[in-house]
Amino acid sequence: MGRIQQLPATVVNQIAAGEVIERPASVVKELLENAIDAGSTRVDVDVEQGGADLIRVVDDGCGIHADDLPLALSNHATSKLRGADDLFRIGTLGFRGEALASVGSIARLTLQSRPAGAAAGAEVACQGGQLAAVRAWNGAPGTRVEVRHLFFNVPVRRKFLRGPATEMSHLSEAFVRLALPHLGLHLTLRHNGKLVHDVPGAAGLLDRIGLFFGRAVREQLRAVEAQQGPFTLGGYVADPGCERGGPQMQYFFVNGRWVRDRLLSQALQDAYRGLLMTGRHAVAFLFVEVPPEHVDVNVHPTKAEVRFRDPEGLQHFLAEEVRGRLQAQDLTGRLRGPDAPDDRPKAAAPEPTFDFVPPPALPPPEPSPAPVRGAERQTAPPREARPASPLPVPRRESPPAPVPRALQAHDLYLLVEVPEGVLVIDQHALHERILYEQLRERLGAGNLEKQRLLVPEPVDLPAHQAALVLEHEAALAELGLEVEAFGGSTVLLHSFPAVLGKRTPQAIFRAVVDYLLTKEKLPDREQLLNDLMALMACHAAVRAGDRLTPGEIGELLAQRVRAGASHHCPHGRPTSLLFTLHDLERQFRRV
Ligand code: ADP
Ligand code: MG
Repeated sequence: MGRIQQLPATVVNQIAAGEVIERPASVVKELLENAIDAGSTRVDVDVEQGGADLIRVVDDGCGIHADDLPLALSNHATSKLRGADDLFRIGTLGFRGEALASVGSIARLTLQSRPAGAAAGAEVACQGGQLAAVRAWNGAPGTRVEVRHLFFNVPVRRKFLRGPATEMSHLSEAFVRLALPHLGLHLTLRHNGKLVHDVPGAAGLLDRIGLFFGRAVREQLRAVEAQQGPFTLGGYVADPGCERGGPQMQYFFVNGRWVRDRLLSQALQDAYRGLLMTGRHAVAFLFVEVPPEHVDVNVHPTKAEVRFRDPEGLQHFLAEEVRGRLQAQDLTGRLRGPDAPDDRPKAAAPEPTFDFVPPPALPPPEPSPAPVRGAERQTAPPREARPASPLPVPRRESPPAPVPRALQAHDLYLLVEVPEGVLVIDQHALHERILYEQLRERLGAGNLEKQRLLVPEPVDLPAHQAALVLEHEAALAELGLEVEAFGGSTVLLHSFPAVLGKRTPQAIFRAVVDYLLTKEKLPDREQLLNDLMALMACHAAVRAGDRLTPGEIGELLAQRVRAGASHHCPHGRPTSLLFTLHDLERQFRRV
């Protein structure tokens, strides 16, 4: 090794650029942040070839004094921070003073600016870190930054750029993350001369979400607003029915800054637990405000991550608030009117047949693998709910009607008259939901009752399965499933959760074993308990095809009212659909 020497500024900047500037989207993010920090009311972004050839950002902000132009392009030069103390009460998006210098070291950059009120403006160019002389510039007040040929002098990095479409999608994402929290700011984005986004200054948060993600998402949002200790929470969460295959539509902002935060994501997932199918993700736009001394934003080069002083407190607060909001909302699925956008598969409209509940109920069939999860169950309700003609007439005298009045159709659906219209309830999904909520509630309150078996049930399992079960003895016991080794490959089952009623404990237990077998790596305790509760609820619930007695229907409906969150089954399917009087009137062209 040679002697130690100070690196030249151009090299230092290129190293910094390696951290801050990954692709054109990073440049757009930095330039937009600068424009916002400058107090702009309008910012126009123009890019060519996904930003690889040109990125131009023009703002109407405070501008830069001609004498400061070279400083703006030098490393660790900023107008946003004076001393170390300021680091802990940052009110601007930028503060590190390295973005412009970094970009200037790896592209051909022109910075033109005119402070409001100045008679004239000035410009300076920087090519691969080589700064040119400041010259006069005759432009409008504000700042105009042009970045051409990104990475022209760093061929390895240029090679890593993807095609214009991919770069553009990253760039657009950066744009969205800054446009959502900055209400009042008029923003445009053009690609190769074509307008991609135009966000008016007057567009509120909902409008912005609608512009970026469409009307369907916007219409499924529920406002969240809460305050606790140092935390303030605002924004929107979507109805679970709006779920997505990935977490891309979960946006978190802390003090107006977009962040990626494992804790916040986890909190959101906790809030939706039981409302979404496994592997599906919620849609949310959440804004957290905390006093600056409660959050450190200087832990990541692009400030995409932050550190909270009380992360658990925030996580708990967010999960509770969002969960409460989701439960408060009536999530009963609604029949979509003919004019509503409908992207679901269309089902042929079968002629419904109606049948009053006959006494008495047949004994429930032996539990078999849940037969109710077929594609046909996830389709939209018939668009035109034409009853059989003539109008359904009860085939025999109805028994004293349970309150509310309900009919069972196809041994699967309960049709209930409610003041707003008619509810169609999936008996299995509803019962499953009720059982799941009861398990959850009792487990949470620490009083999950066990039903002890008079004679322990021996369950024969292959040796490795028996071992697997015994390995999870503690978690199973928490859920009321007490097991004991009984020599060889036999496991004794001593008890099961009382709320699950009279279904055979054996079958439920076997379903639990099957679940354990499918898992290569077992989830954490909470997830495990949750999965098992969903599974047991599913297996213990009445099934499609079970003829219910009026008493059973009445009991189910009464429990539905008691269980606040009975709108979705634990797998995320809705438990009921509401056909409002208005919907029906419209479908029958009465209005
Ligand atoms: P930082 O934003 O962290 O301060 P930058 O390198 O992004 O660092 O910018 C350096 C300085 O240049 C800023 O502190 C600001 O004074 C000035 N500046 C950059 N862009 C603009 C702009 N669009 N309008 C006004 N001033 C700007
Ligand atoms: Mg900056």
